[in-house]
Amino acid sequence: MLLYFDRTFTETVSGNRLVELKCEHCSGVYYYLLARVGRGAATAPYMIGQKRAAQKAKEKARRDLEKRLRDESELVPCPKCQWINESLVQGFRQTYYRGWGIGAIVVGSAGTFFSLLIALIFARDLMNKSYAVMTAILGPIISLTLAFLILGWRKLMRNRIQPNCDFPHTPIIPAGTPSALIRNAETGLFEAIPRPVEAPNERKGNGWVVFQLGLNTLPQVCCVCNDSADPKCNYPHVICAGLALSIPFCRYCARSWKRRKWKTALAAAVSLIGLGYIAVSSLNLEDLLFWLLLIGTIVVAPFFGLFIAGWKTSPFRVRLVDRSRSIVLLSFQNDEYRKILVEAK
Ligand SMILES: [Zn+2]
Ligand SMILES: [Zn+2]
Repeated sequence: MLLYFDRTFTETVSGNRLVELKCEHCSGVYYYLLARVGRGAATAPYMIGQKRAAQKAKEKARRDLEKRLRDESELVPCPKCQWINESLVQGFRQTYYRGWGIGAIVVGSAGTFFSLLIALIFARDLMNKSYAVMTAILGPIISLTLAFLILGWRKLMRNRIQPNCDFPHTPIIPAGTPSALIRNAETGLFEAIPRPVEAPNERKGNGWVVFQLGLNTLPQVCCVCNDSADPKCNYPHVICAGLALSIPFCRYCARSWKRRKWKTALAAAVSLIGLGYIAVSSLNLEDLLFWLLLIGTIVVAPFFGLFIAGWKTSPFRVRLVDRSRSIVLLSFQNDEYRKILVEAK
């Protein structure tokens, strides 16, 4: 048997671009900042060429970012009349179901390839000639139909995005939509126009701040004590595959959080083992089963303990709102830090 192993490198690059728009309805000129995160991955088979794979992943991420900043857009209504240009709607639709196109190609081509391969195997046996013909015809038809169905479904889902349907009433825009910017004729500076309607997600509980990776940055002050943060002590919080946030901490708070986390984890693990022991002993099991269950509890308890401790002691919370647009909701135990973040946005 051949042993195969490899290492996959994934990279993300974030960036933004100032977009200039002329309203199709009232001809007013306005701007907004489009932010996106590009992703790229490359594999080094048998760990060979790891440097090249890492470089390739970075290049792919940069190309993905360029493409996204060129093709996609945000639903920023005209600050004068609330109309959303058709080009913005089209670009916004491109933001979603991005992987479905590749999915359709894979289903169509792999299905066709394998059905032809099976037909060839059938054709070698005289008894199976009719099966061979049937597979050679039906296989590709089914695969290609499936591929077209995936593309059709994607089009249908994308076309459901109709932000102008209530025009001239103010549209409900998605959470994290950037503010429209207007250039002040005298100063030449951009001024943000407050958004007319809050997207439903943004009302989720008090204290949550909408944050877009690639556009917003976390102020480099400790999120616990507001002292200046030490970049070496920042906590890398993984939100989902390809999205991560570096939460700023000062050296002292990073250490004290770590200590608190380990203490809570230990306490939680010991309590879980104690509870497990009580539960297992109350079952009157045979010796072997008793020890197996008890050892299982002892092995699993530290992981649960760590999970509980991470959740209970964390000075911040992150909720993913929209992965495609890299939008999250953030909340901090330290309300001062939240205020600093809101001001910095
Ligand atoms: Zn307008
Ligand atoms: Zn601190």
